[in-house]
Amino acid sequence: MPPNRVQKTLKRSSTERRLLSASLTHHFGFVMPDCSRCLRLTLSPCKATDRSLSCSNCCSAGAVSCDVFGVPTADIQAILSEKRRLDREKDAVLAELIAGQRRLLGLEAQSRALEGRAEKALSRELSLIAEEGTEALPPSSSSGGVLPYDWAVDPSLLGDLGSVDGTAGASQSS
Ligand SMILES: [Zn+2]
Ligand SMILES: [Zn+2]
Repeated sequence: MPPNRVQKTLKRSSTERRLLSASLTHHFGFVMPDCSRCLRLTLSPCKATDRSLSCSNCCSAGAVSCDVFGVPTADIQAILSEKRRLDREKDAVLAELIAGQRRLLGLEAQSRALEGRAEKALSRELSLIAEEGTEALPPSSSSGGVLPYDWAVDPSLLGDLGSVDGTAGASQSS
């Protein structure tokens, strides 16, 4: 590029060039449906030419994005990629929730099984206690014989047994 041509283009600042383009577009462009910025700031008319990158108002305002010819492809792609990111993240969280729910159900099933085992163990132990209690009673207790110490300090247990073999009266009197 010859040096004199470079000098000529540098004589006009980018701001001057932009304002002149905006002015030319304003006077010779065609009226477009308002771009977002013209609509928001009520700057009608929103004008452009088929060579414009932005409308006259946005052009004179400088570095603002103008969607007079539609939303820039990059913006649409950004929206779509953000949508994909959110969907992926939601799917991941949902999968975690489902997995957590399955783990919780598994733990609840284990708890129920354990309660069943505890119940069996307890009823076995209680039946053994009842059996041992019956065997431990001295045959002469009904005639007011001396009771073992444990029986004397636990009248409720003795009462239970008494209802079976009629020794309750003996404990109450002693
Ligand atoms: Zn506009
Ligand atoms: Zn605009």
